[in-house]
Amino acid sequence: MGRIVYWGLIRTVITVFLLWISYDYLYNRYWWIIAGVVVYVIIIHPIVSQYKSFTKKNETVIKDSLCSRCKHFDETAVLCMKYDKHPTEDYIPCEGVDWEPK
Ligand code: SF4
Repeated sequence: MGRIVYWGLIRTVITVFLLWISYDYLYNRYWWIIAGVVVYVIIIHPIVSQYKSFTKKNETVIKDSLCSRCKHFDETAVLCMKYDKHPTEDYIPCEGVDWEPK
């Protein structure tokens, strides 16, 4: 999840910089249309598709695991907040010892 946010911010900074530079070179009437398309294609669409891929990849951990029913689990980041580690289908950071119901 952090990787999605990190690269989203990097793409945003680069895109805004390039759009800012291009403002003087493009005809103003079309600049907003081009800027909207560029922002969607370079920033929004990759974030949405990467987030969908992330949730699909971790679907079992989010919906049907020991951690998914624990109060220390943050399902938006698929993270055990107590151990600051990412549980997987095969790996539970506390091995069930610190599980507490939601
Ligand atoms: S405390 Fe244990 S059961 Fe609870 S989220 Fe963390 S690893 Fe999972």
